[in-house]
Amino acid sequence: MPTRQKAIRLFQFSGITVYLHWSWFLIAIFEINGRNSSYTSFYWNVLEYLALFVIVMLHEFGHALACRQTGGTANQIVLWPLGGVAYVDPPPRPGAVLWSIVAGPLVNVVLAPLLYAVAFLGKSTGWWLLFPNLHELLRAVFWIDLVLLGFNILPIYPLDGGKILWSLLWFVLGRARSLMVATLLGFVGVAGFVLLAIYIRSVWFGILAGYLLINCWGGLQHARALVKMAKLPRRHEFGCPRCQQSPPAGEYWKCGKCGQAFDTFATNAACPYCSTQFPVTRCLDCGGLSPMSEWAAQRYAVAMPSQS
Ligand SMILES: [Zn+2]
Ligand SMILES: [Zn+2]
Ligand SMILES: [Zn+2]
Repeated sequence: MPTRQKAIRLFQFSGITVYLHWSWFLIAIFEINGRNSSYTSFYWNVLEYLALFVIVMLHEFGHALACRQTGGTANQIVLWPLGGVAYVDPPPRPGAVLWSIVAGPLVNVVLAPLLYAVAFLGKSTGWWLLFPNLHELLRAVFWIDLVLLGFNILPIYPLDGGKILWSLLWFVLGRARSLMVATLLGFVGVAGFVLLAIYIRSVWFGILAGYLLINCWGGLQHARALVKMAKLPRRHEFGCPRCQQSPPAGEYWKCGKCGQAFDTFATNAACPYCSTQFPVTRCLDCGGLSPMSEWAAQRYAVAMPSQS
């Protein structure tokens, strides 16, 4: 995964900061020079490559804005040679996750007829004869949008299509088992990518397949951890203010100071070894950080709904 550490900050919109990873420049030079096109000037190649990333960025904004709409966290997008990554953390509910994922490809769906209208219908007015390069660019951008859409909705985890499959299965199978099924199916798809990369002898496709494989593997590990978590006994007297899940009972929290594992709900968020008091406690289900008082209040609110 690209990180913003080695990236340039481009701009901020609606609380979301867009970064450009350094490797993008390297690949851009390589890609723009290696491209054979029908433009009369080299600069249109540069514009086409930039347009590709504008489309990618709009797609990622779709994910990020939808995630924020569901109450989740999404504050950065990193663009890199393999496209873009929106760091989204929707609340752990299937509907919220589904909307955060669907909104990305939906941007491409909305853009397609708009780009088509400008690129092709302009032909009837004859303006394309005056600006042949511009017409060529718009045509290329229309196809880029469709190819990106088609690729992203392949039902192969971690592509959007695979994640849509995951969140749909979530409604039926639960969070852990649905992720398990989606990632196992993902491996079949990724294996297909690897074979295709070998068949067409494309290094670029091979790198992409490798990236998908690493992410699919990560997804499977996450699914295994979730399956394990689901079996643990819970402390029902507490609830996460963010996802409403009760925490597991046991020494699953690690002291940030002395490194010892302890059960933070048994000690009121204090380490029993070095006595460090922690202002917030991490939810093992959603990753949210909340003060102990809110963990207790959440349960109270759920247990006493008819008081007011
Ligand atoms: Zn996407
Ligand atoms: Zn939680
Ligand atoms: Zn400690």
